[in-house]
Amino acid sequence: MNAPASECLFCKIARKEIPAALVYEDDTLLAFKDIFPQAPVHVLIIPKAHCEGLGDLTTETAAAAARIPQVAAQLARDLGVMTGGWRLLNNCGPDSGQTVFHLHFHLLGGKALGGRLCQ
Ligand code: AMP
Ligand code: ZN
Repeated sequence: MNAPASECLFCKIARKEIPAALVYEDDTLLAFKDIFPQAPVHVLIIPKAHCEGLGDLTTETAAAAARIPQVAAQLARDLGVMTGGWRLLNNCGPDSGQTVFHLHFHLLGGKALGGRLCQ
């Protein structure tokens, strides 16, 4: 059973009830450093409104999520990985390894990330 919005970890971060290292915020999106970074740059970008994943988009969360690539590109520039290269990825559902059921995209960079999409 996935957490309702009231108990959702990333909703709590969005409501500033749990601390996070914020790197970007606007009206509908938030970005913060992953607590267990897999690369020198590892940022999570989320819509502030709760949505479990890409299979559960509403009009509101779809509009917010549509802006994530543009925000990710700006963050890649700001965080110094635009030239070296970076990856934006989403895990959706159990087989993908999604562990937090609030839509989020991982922005990874700062090292050679490897070529495999799955193993
Ligand atoms: P996923 O496996 O795609 O659901 O990714 C969830 C990510 O959330 C993982 O990379 C975790 O390290 C990260 N994470 C879990 N708790 C926190 C937290 N409190 N602050 C920042 N990142 C977190
Ligand atoms: Zn949530």
